[in-house]
Amino acid sequence: MARLVALGGGESGVGTAILGLKKGFDVFVSDKGIIKEKYKKVLEHFGIDWEEGQHTESKILNADLVMKSPGIPDKVTLIKDLIANGIPVISEIEFASKYTDAMIIGITGSNGKTTTTMLTDHIFKAEKLNVGMAGNIGDSYAKMVAEKSFDFYVLEISSFQLDGIIDFKPQIAIITNITPDHLDRYEHEFENYIASKFRIVTNQTESDFLIYDADDEVIVNWLEKHPVRSHLVPFSIQNKLEEGAHVENNEIVIQVKNNTMRMTTDNLALEGRHNLKNTMAASLAATLVGIRKDTIRESITNFHGAPHRLEKVLRIGHVQYINDSKATNVNATFFALDSMSAPTVWIVGGVDKGNDYSQLMPLVREKVKAIICLGEDNSKIKDFFGNVVDLMVETFAMSEAVKVAYKIAERGDTVLLSPACASFDLFKSYEDRGNQFKEAIRNL
Ligand code: ADP
Repeated sequence: MARLVALGGGESGVGTAILGLKKGFDVFVSDKGIIKEKYKKVLEHFGIDWEEGQHTESKILNADLVMKSPGIPDKVTLIKDLIANGIPVISEIEFASKYTDAMIIGITGSNGKTTTTMLTDHIFKAEKLNVGMAGNIGDSYAKMVAEKSFDFYVLEISSFQLDGIIDFKPQIAIITNITPDHLDRYEHEFENYIASKFRIVTNQTESDFLIYDADDEVIVNWLEKHPVRSHLVPFSIQNKLEEGAHVENNEIVIQVKNNTMRMTTDNLALEGRHNLKNTMAASLAATLVGIRKDTIRESITNFHGAPHRLEKVLRIGHVQYINDSKATNVNATFFALDSMSAPTVWIVGGVDKGNDYSQLMPLVREKVKAIICLGEDNSKIKDFFGNVVDLMVETFAMSEAVKVAYKIAERGDTVLLSPACASFDLFKSYEDRGNQFKEAIRNL
């Protein structure tokens, strides 16, 4: 019996274990931290052997195959030892893909993955296709492959998942954009991170598609230097394109496979230039699988966006409160500020991943009337924007930040939480941060 070890007892580790068990592996799950109660219950239910708080080498180095959860860096000694012993170390998407013939739409990029994944899934479901959505969202892909039988998978895929692929191939790949993120995991080399994102096309051939943002210089330059076999399907909001999608007179024009379709941009469910791009990417994927134009048109107007992404919370005293807690890097915040049409009270800060705030400067000058810093250490934000806005206030708790915002904001203003930073200093996660924001607004 082949031995499969899942390193990490979270969603992907436990999903892999369930699928591995079903496929006849002798399965072991090992987590150096503490495994959540809900996952322990699942492991017990299936009778899967597991450990927590340690990695017992004798139970791991005898594996035939190891699935490494995305959170574990390649540089840890155990991973190095496994590789030195010739034991394949793969990611969950690699493992699960071996056991399904479903068509895969794989979505990666620095920002917009979740939004594009959810919108694509929404369009596919509206067409009544038998589709499963997985990846960083909800149930793991491996668990779905073990328990369900879908014709299509729409997968949100991080660069860490892509680092562990060998044969994985989506028939349709989407790269939403590439901006510096997670560089601590890539030897602080942007090139390594770009290469990692592009692994999504490694196994694609001429009959597979790569949908990508043609306005993104990083992507375009990379493609020039590293030609791919995939059929290229670009989208642009800046230039007219012969093939792919572009914008013309308030219409999205889609041209693929000798099909042309026009859709008005007037009633799009998702606001902002970045979301126009996400809408184009999802519509292109839908067109490529032959979904009817009317379904696409309708779906992109009646979609409900994901929480914590430019989520409109409440309007109080003619002030709109917007929760963009998922903006954990500068680029996401750039597009949030870009889509603001009213004077903005901006709540920003948290754990800085080496942020370069300079690209935000013109938008801050134009749109931001006050900055509320919300982080353990706000010095960088204070240094950077201190002279740019009339009012800057430092806060150390969400309830405090929201109260200050409420006092500052006037009729017609917007209060925007778009932190440009990770949340782990004052919050458990970006969801916790966004939920606390919403809670504080409701308590005003
Ligand atoms: P991801 O799953 O890649 O983190 P999300 O859809 O969760 O992406 O969005 C993360 C953040 O990035 C949100 O603040 C959102 O408003 C912003 N965002 C969404 N799409 C884009 C895009 N195409 N370009 C830049 N920022 C985006």
